[in-house]
Amino acid sequence: MKNPFKTLPGKITVGYQTLDIDVLDVIPANNIGGYSGQHGRISIDRAYHGKPEELANTVLHEVLHACFHTSGLTGLPPGETEELTVTVLGNALTQVFRDNPEFLDWVSKTLALSAKPDCSQKQK
Ligand SMILES: [Zn+2]
Repeated sequence: MKNPFKTLPGKITVGYQTLDIDVLDVIPANNIGGYSGQHGRISIDRAYHGKPEELANTVLHEVLHACFHTSGLTGLPPGETEELTVTVLGNALTQVFRDNPEFLDWVSKTLALSAKPDCSQKQK
């Protein structure tokens, strides 16, 4: 397999945000990944992710944080709700995508049929 760091997209659109995905050598506070809605960025620690599934899981985890924030779920009670929700769903999605590559491919191709609006055209 190719180095997944080289094929990792540099940007991803989640909700109303288009986020940069930055791979860094060091992330503050001993985190292995991070999402900052304020800075429009997902950060991934390069050193921690020796296995592709670890990298995929962390990227999914941070994407789910972005989903959580951009969808307004931050209105839930404070505490561990967000971290637990993101961790459980991220772990589950990583397994589903790893063990069902044909499903992920189908989702991707099906969504590609739903073209994004072309904003370059003038309105009539
Ligand atoms: Zn988290």
